[in-house]
Amino acid sequence: MARGARVVVVGSLNVDATSYVERFPAPGETVTSRAFRTALGGKGANQAVAAHLAGAEVDLVARLGDDANAALALGVLERLGLATAGIGQVADAPTGVAQITVADSGENTVIVTGGANLALDPESLDTERERLASAALVLSQGELPIATIERLVEHCAALGVRLVVNLAPPVAVSAAALAVCDPLVVNEHEARAIGIGAEVAAGAPLDEWRPHAASAVGRVARSVVVTLGAAGAVGASPEGDWAEPAPEVVAVDTTGAGDCFTGTLAAFLAEGRGLAESMRIAVAAGALAVQARGTVDSYAPRATVLAAAA
Ligand code: ATP
Repeated sequence: MARGARVVVVGSLNVDATSYVERFPAPGETVTSRAFRTALGGKGANQAVAAHLAGAEVDLVARLGDDANAALALGVLERLGLATAGIGQVADAPTGVAQITVADSGENTVIVTGGANLALDPESLDTERERLASAALVLSQGELPIATIERLVEHCAALGVRLVVNLAPPVAVSAAALAVCDPLVVNEHEARAIGIGAEVAAGAPLDEWRPHAASAVGRVARSVVVTLGAAGAVGASPEGDWAEPAPEVVAVDTTGAGDCFTGTLAAFLAEGRGLAESMRIAVAAGALAVQARGTVDSYAPRATVLAAAA
């Protein structure tokens, strides 16, 4: 397929190592897992894959360690056909890892080791200006050092490149940096953490959130999208505000739905589609992702997403 607009993703890249157990071990105890799987993870990598599947020409700027997990992650990205030239390898650091344990109760515990991701420091972005300048849109997330996100904002502003930030987790990026995000994408917990809809009750309908997204335009960011799980998403820009309900589906695994939504949204915005239309397509992509197991394994290709959004 001919690739669409160029999206540069600056973000985290991990290997998720998941053990499935009957119950969690107590301190000092050993339990046997019934299954184990490794998969590509990290919000940067997940969103890069989603944008790629949505048709964008994706360039991922990330850092891997000097270990076997680096080859595993690169192998997945290369098999999918993503550009990996912006992925540097760091000596003396492990590739980022999320050690996940899922119990029969459905609960999970996660230990994240940032590892090589922490080497994506502000200075390392200074050598990426050419790559950033080549983008129709730059996409990043809250899993990088705060100073790196703030430097990215400076570069994008200086280069006049549109920047989308998914503030997950809701790290304390300066208000001035958030102000240029177009859009800032958050889920409802992240929204409350940064003063959008702080008074909205959990489980409130889309229409209750919509005015809060609208009032955050110009106050918090240039434009804003709040994802609301099974309810869908709301968004607002200087052109208007929208509520996009999600279709009712049987969700089997919601892991990575937010990353699927954001990567898809970025790909369609980069093509020049408006925020309302891009949100509608991203909601369809998110709904497809929750109906399959895994993170990037659950992301559907462009044609399937567009058919679902029609
Ligand atoms: P996660 O951290 O699990 O990746 P998140 O909290 O960042 O997710 P959500 O708001 O839960 O993000 O989900 C993102 C989008 O995915 C939603 O806006 C919606 O479009 C879609 N989605 C999530 N859960 C469901 C569901 N149960 N049914 C249909 N669509 C869903």
